[in-house]
Amino acid sequence: MIFDILTLLPEVCRAYGKASILGRAQKAGLIELRLTNVRDFAFDRHRTVDDYPYGGGDGMVMKVEPLVAALESLPGKPKPRIILMSPAGRPFDQQLAAELASLERLVLICGRYEGIDERVRKLAVDQEISVGDYVLSGGELPALTVVDAVSRLIPGVLGGEGSAASDSFSDGLLEHPHYTRPDEFRGLKVPEVLLSGNHVAIARWRQKESLRRTWLRRPELLERLELTDQERDLLAEVKAEQGQGQP
Ligand code: SAH
Repeated sequence: MIFDILTLLPEVCRAYGKASILGRAQKAGLIELRLTNVRDFAFDRHRTVDDYPYGGGDGMVMKVEPLVAALESLPGKPKPRIILMSPAGRPFDQQLAAELASLERLVLICGRYEGIDERVRKLAVDQEISVGDYVLSGGELPALTVVDAVSRLIPGVLGGEGSAASDSFSDGLLEHPHYTRPDEFRGLKVPEVLLSGNHVAIARWRQKESLRRTWLRRPELLERLELTDQERDLLAEVKAEQGQGQP
């Protein structure tokens, strides 16, 4: 899968893309992260990429010409989905990550300043994505968030680092807690069942703790799910253990 990021800060994106899972995925040829510096497409003497907003007010706006020129400089194939990072976009979640993971190529546009000239959106953008109801200083962290979450879902990317299938949200639930050695630390013991070697019991414990976490922390996630009989039984046990009533 190919990701093209359009940004004024390519070095920020490059650093993250080189590290850890994304770095290995690039070396293995599973993903390609390409960076385009929008400033390279500002053709005036001062290489200006921003200007004052029409109508007045604080802050600067990213100009339309460099962004459109940068977009038009990209290869046309494979045909990308062109995405603008924006607080006004569709909230990003695991389901949207899975949808995007089925595509061959994404182009991710990072705004800076007060945002980008609206005409970029009208001329070129297929979709706007927000990473949450807060405002960041630029679209780089949101774009890298999308690249990271989508890449994890591409077969082979996670390799030995666990499977995306058991991650939080992939089945609509939060993931169960994890433990590693030592088996006791400052009086806190690892739950007995995890040391038992009984894989059926371990799977049951994990499923139950996943349900417990979700019920206690994000009950609205449970409302959207159709639970299996086994999950319903486990959730009933959890509720009895926690005491009836609201989480
Ligand atoms: N004035 C704008 C915010 C500009 S922040 C507003 O009030 O909506 C500058 C850039 O950061 C934006 O153009 C966008 O690309 C990016 N950005 C900031 N917060 C974001 C978020 N929650 N999700 C996605 N992109 C975001």
